[in-house]
Amino acid sequence: MSDKKVRVRFAPSPTGGLHLGGVRTVLFNYLFAKKYKGDFVLRVEDTDQGRYVEGAEKYIMDCLNWCGLIPDESPIAGGQYAPYRQSERKAIYREYAERLVSQGHAYYAFDTPEELERNRKEIPNFQYGHAYRNGLRNSLSLKTHQVQQLLDGGEPHVIRIKMPEDETIHFYDMIRGNVSFETGQSDDKVLLKADGMPTYHLAVVVDDYLMKITHAFRGEEWLPSAPVHLLLWEYLGWKADMPQWAHLPLILKPDGHGKLSKRDGARLGFPVYAMNWLDEKTGDLTPGFRELGFLPEAFLNLLAMLGWNDGTDNEIFTLDELIEKFSMERVHNSGAKFDFEKAKWFNAEWIKRSEGGSLKSEVRKILGDKGIVASDDEYLISLIDLVKERCTLLPDFYHQLSYFYEQPKEYDLNAVKPKWTDAKTEFFKSFISLLGKREDFLAPDLEQSFKFLAEEKGLKAGELMLPFRIMLVGGKFGPHVFDIAALLGKEETIKRIEKAQPLLNPPL
Ligand code: GLU
Repeated sequence: MSDKKVRVRFAPSPTGGLHLGGVRTVLFNYLFAKKYKGDFVLRVEDTDQGRYVEGAEKYIMDCLNWCGLIPDESPIAGGQYAPYRQSERKAIYREYAERLVSQGHAYYAFDTPEELERNRKEIPNFQYGHAYRNGLRNSLSLKTHQVQQLLDGGEPHVIRIKMPEDETIHFYDMIRGNVSFETGQSDDKVLLKADGMPTYHLAVVVDDYLMKITHAFRGEEWLPSAPVHLLLWEYLGWKADMPQWAHLPLILKPDGHGKLSKRDGARLGFPVYAMNWLDEKTGDLTPGFRELGFLPEAFLNLLAMLGWNDGTDNEIFTLDELIEKFSMERVHNSGAKFDFEKAKWFNAEWIKRSEGGSLKSEVRKILGDKGIVASDDEYLISLIDLVKERCTLLPDFYHQLSYFYEQPKEYDLNAVKPKWTDAKTEFFKSFISLLGKREDFLAPDLEQSFKFLAEEKGLKAGELMLPFRIMLVGGKFGPHVFDIAALLGKEETIKRIEKAQPLLNPPL
């Protein structure tokens, strides 16, 4: 590593929801920056006005806030290299594009969209590049005075890079090692558009340079663009300051065939976006991990493990542990299959490991949405701690906790009725009177009295436990039944036994 301060960036285009692959890119950037005590920059690449979507930038910021991956510099936080929205930097780019033209590395192209469309239709595999550029309307094919005339007359034009016909470009990728490309395969990419906005290719290079970015980590889909960017770094005379690259592997569909898309999520019934994304135009809502009940810690943990490990079997890491252990060299160079069951496993692990106190606001909201007011903090925390091992997604807390606040509305009578006997009715009557006399109401004591009484009556405690559970909870679920009774308290436990008894022993 050089002694320059590490500076990385996440550079999303605000075109819609944030795919989990995007959050993983943020995460790897963040981990790297924090590991080397560097800066993490968020730059909004909004130069493609046609694809700009209102609200997408705020949504991206909200996703980062939810995950706790807060940029040091951003359009919101500001910073030394502001502005961080490319549309607000429009005036900067032309100078560099013109510099490339004057050096002969780029040229003006006056072809209209219709002319280009015609070429694409008529010429198989048409590319605006060395094979055809001389027959098209640009400053390489036209005479200097014609070009000047067109420019003076305000003829709409773009600036394109002049890709070398036959060069091999090499660069080092921190994940893939040495990578090389033949320049002849790439077309002459547009650098500056007719509306004066730069394209991604020009803007990314200029901004990475001006913002002193030292490492550029981005999705594998950008690998084919790397040669164009490399040439621009070289032509602009900035090669010595070029960031180190890493192209992160794709996140694949569960069957491993191709990139995981929004459509796969809809087809297979799992989220692909970090948070719910509402498309204002179509009204379509794409579900997110957050709203489904994932914890941000679990979401980050599972993303980190998609394509990276620390060399051991350990799979659970806090953000601080990830910062300590992360290295770009350990990111795999092949795609990582997404497995939703595994994703849920991570969430269950994280819920299990969380303190009741840290989950209480989320759980209170989940209960509140269903009309349950869980006002007592301490009580709620004990309940959460009691059932958290049984929850995979946050909304599972409703099923696991609602019966503490409301008497069961239904009883799974089939589970106990066939084996019900008068002796059991008698048992519960005696148990109620025993409970009524108790001063304390602790789970181990309740269990002991229950077992003694069963023995006294010549019954098996094990056969009475399920009915007891059904009386308290309504179904065959929940934690240890005496823990439930203890938390329900004396009065409520007695009330529930009394209420359920006649259901089990109805007059014929
Ligand atoms: N704006 C690009 C995107 O939307 C950024 C790619 C890069 O990081 O260079 O993914």
